Amino acid sequence: MKNSRRDFLKAVAVLGVTSSQLAKAEKGRAQSRSRLKSGHKVIGMKRGLKIKSIETFTRGNVSMVRIRTDDGAEGYGQISTYDADISAMIMHRKIARHALGKDPADIDAIVDRCIEANYKYPWSYVCRALAGLDTALWDLYGKREKRSVCELLGGKPRPIRAYGSSMRRDIKPADEANRLVRLRDTKGFRAFKIRIGKVCGHDEDQWPGRTEALVPAVRKAIGDDVSLLVDANSCYTPPRAIEVGRMLEDNNVCHLEEPCPYWELEWTARVTAAINVPVAGGEQDNDLAQWRRMIRMRAVDIVQPDICYVGGLTRALRVAAMAAEAKMPVVPHSANLAMVTVFTLHLLGAIPNAGPHLEFSIEPANWTKDLYHPALEVRDGRVAIPDGPGWGVTVNPKWLAAAKRDISERG
Ligand SMILES: [Mg+2]
Repeated sequence: MKNSRRDFLKAVAVLGVTSSQLAKAEKGRAQSRSRLKSGHKVIGMKRGLKIKSIETFTRGNVSMVRIRTDDGAEGYGQISTYDADISAMIMHRKIARHALGKDPADIDAIVDRCIEANYKYPWSYVCRALAGLDTALWDLYGKREKRSVCELLGGKPRPIRAYGSSMRRDIKPADEANRLVRLRDTKGFRAFKIRIGKVCGHDEDQWPGRTEALVPAVRKAIGDDVSLLVDANSCYTPPRAIEVGRMLEDNNVCHLEEPCPYWELEWTARVTAAINVPVAGGEQDNDLAQWRRMIRMRAVDIVQPDICYVGGLTRALRVAAMAAEAKMPVVPHSANLAMVTVFTLHLLGAIPNAGPHLEFSIEPANWTKDLYHPALEVRDGRVAIPDGPGWGVTVNPKWLAAAKRDISERG
């Protein structure tokens, strides 16, 4: 079975739900629902609370966030991983004052204020920190309402199909193929993503010939009925990406991620128009205007917001709504097993244009191991959306106790 662009477009046509249709579909449901700027309706955003304190708990790659309101309610979120100490400082220096004293029900306005107040310092670290505030607010809503975030948004907790995501380029093709087969047989994965080219590689491979050896070796090993995705991490110019794309077509690859430097939208659009393999991208993008351009010009076929890079669930929902208008599926970036994969499960369970699978890292990582429980588990190739209130997981108190704590409070 070949994956052609025509098949792909046919398959995603059913995903074309516009935000006005979303709003209409919600009509008649409980009046307590409020509508987000993205068009999604949400329950449980009752007014009348005030954000009293914002704490960060920073340890290694991770900074957890705890929000408390003046009535004693609390919620946990997480700042984007890596260099978390820098992002935690941004939280207290550049974000917290725009949220303290505000009603959490004004989440759209809070998020927008945090972005606009930092207009001289746009995007990366501001959005990484903002994600911590935003995700803690969603947890707080869920806990108050005794529902999961997925349910607040009208979804239903259930198992979601996952693809096993390899993060390695230092691995020989035969070794990569062997470990994926093992994971297919033990965890039931029916899809995998492998790494091709070199990160921002200017057309170079990790070592000469690796990509041309890896893709057919993995395809042969995992079998024709397992989906194969590849990620080029901004490696190629358009001519080389198109050349590689032909080889990917021959190996029935169903997703080519970030073929060109991600900021070169026109390059990516050229590749998307030229090859039959659906092109995916957007994980690094955190400017919603850039997202609008990317989607309007159809630079990619599949959009991949990272909930933590883009500034939280509220902004990721706006990207998802733009994609829905354009009949494009969302396969978010969630490349580690810290909270981003938990957040992503809830998003995928709630949006009408969720793509076919969740990104699930197959790399062992001690730093995410004891962060929260229950840990996410792959069973029969699927991962369940945690169904407890809020994000449905409990942050490990021992982990918090061992972390560096900072607090911003309402004066
Ligand atoms: Mg990627």
